[in-house]
Amino acid sequence: MRRCDELQTWFAEYLGQVLPAHQRRELEDHLSFCPTCSQLLAAERRLDQLLAAQPLATPSPDFTLQVLARIHRDGTNRVDW
Ligand SMILES: [Zn+2]
Repeated sequence: MRRCDELQTWFAEYLGQVLPAHQRRELEDHLSFCPTCSQLLAAERRLDQLLAAQPLATPSPDFTLQVLARIHRDGTNRVDW
């Protein structure tokens, strides 16, 4: 039995529908009895949809850092997309 935090690292691929079938089955099986992961996945799915609705956004873990670096580099508060 895998731990929750291990399965949660699969969420992005699961939502992107690139998770291998056997892992998807294992994850879905886990979701059926784990409310914690179910809620987390639901939250991640909403975030995914928000990002998808903004074509200029880059959904990567260091997204915020990139924005901050850009602001810092420009020396202004303007974000130049
Ligand atoms: Zn879980």
